[in-house]
Amino acid sequence: MQNNKEWQAAFSVIAQLEEAGFEAVVVGGAVRDALLGRPVHDVDVATNALPEEVKTVFKRTVDIGIQHGTVLVIMPAAPVEVTTYRTDGEYTDHRRPEAVHFVRSLKEDLQRRDFTMNAIAMRRDGSLVDYYGGQPDIETGIIRAVGEAQVRFAEDALRMLRAVRFSAQLGFSIEETTLRAMQHKAADIAWIAKERLKAELDKLWVGKDVYNGIKKLQESDLDVYLTGEFHAENWRGFCVQNKLYGWAYFAFMQGQNWQDVLRCYRLSNKEMAFVKSVLAAFKALRSGWTNMDYYTYMEEELEAALYFANFTQLDVPWPQYSIQEAQAKLPIRQRQEIVVNGMDLLKWSGQMRGPWVREALQAMLEAVVSGELQNERQQIKDWIEHKYMHKG
Ligand code: ATP
Ligand code: MG
Repeated sequence: MQNNKEWQAAFSVIAQLEEAGFEAVVVGGAVRDALLGRPVHDVDVATNALPEEVKTVFKRTVDIGIQHGTVLVIMPAAPVEVTTYRTDGEYTDHRRPEAVHFVRSLKEDLQRRDFTMNAIAMRRDGSLVDYYGGQPDIETGIIRAVGEAQVRFAEDALRMLRAVRFSAQLGFSIEETTLRAMQHKAADIAWIAKERLKAELDKLWVGKDVYNGIKKLQESDLDVYLTGEFHAENWRGFCVQNKLYGWAYFAFMQGQNWQDVLRCYRLSNKEMAFVKSVLAAFKALRSGWTNMDYYTYMEEELEAALYFANFTQLDVPWPQYSIQEAQAKLPIRQRQEIVVNGMDLLKWSGQMRGPWVREALQAMLEAVVSGELQNERQQIKDWIEHKYMHKG
């Protein structure tokens, strides 16, 4: 597990820093996930070397957050984020410290981290540095604040939603004092930028135990201060890999004003469009999908709708074919494939331009997609003449 590119790169960064006389360790999510046997992507390194010192040790570096002490070291295998041990200065906005202070002690650096499971360091030889009891908490599946929970949530309210998100990702429970502190500080979540809330929810939706996460959201009272309705019962057994399926199902739970709710979380136009299509495809499924539905919606949108139908045990006419097959069978997949255009219609009809052209083109498209009309010039011409030119 620790022999993938990211770990190798991180360990050679540590080796080079040690050779230069500094101390360095792997910290945070990578150590936690390694202990849990979960796949690890970002292997972050912490060191007592100051950013400028880090930059003298490595040939290729990029300043990605130098004011917070982070330098990206470009290694042949993978880039590695190296952050100087630091403590956070005073918090005045419930989110970001005014300033950070670089320190030379790992213990202090680990103390600023949010949860015990995220405050474990791993040395190059694989041994662990665990001052706050992270290992036993990981073994028993507990999310516990480092230090005084209320103080930690008062400093940075996002941590509360991180706790909820981790409970969904890992299926962990939240230790009692930590949960009570969340209840006390829940209202502070309103201070957090919507983009940050979205980033946590993005991860929550694809967690292995979303139900657990939403339950914790309710138990902590955070749901009261977040936009939208969260009912844990509706999420029992929900399990998806695409965050947009989560947003679409969340939207479905909101009823009529789902667009206002989702806009609060700053979904992009593209994401909103996806959700809208999923909801429409889901609605269409109640009477069974037509060729036009297979034509209109993307495979993932239909797949999401099908998942919802299954998940909510809706009694729908189940499609005969797989979505891929049904789409492959369509007479055309794109408007441009139609062999007749608006100019043809004007020429054939001898009529003036007008809204009728657009209507006729749409009707023609639907007829071709449904298989009622062949995508062939003479046939389309006859069809148009019959439908639009004998009316008078
Ligand atoms: P993920 O798997 O989502 O990346 P992570 O634990 O690695 O989870 P990051 O946001 O990448 O989360 O942060 C890396 C580490 O930095 C965390 O493990 C934690 O030690 C610390 N950290 C991150 N955010 C906070 C915070 N808001 N307050 C305190 N410590 C934090
Ligand atoms: Mg991380």
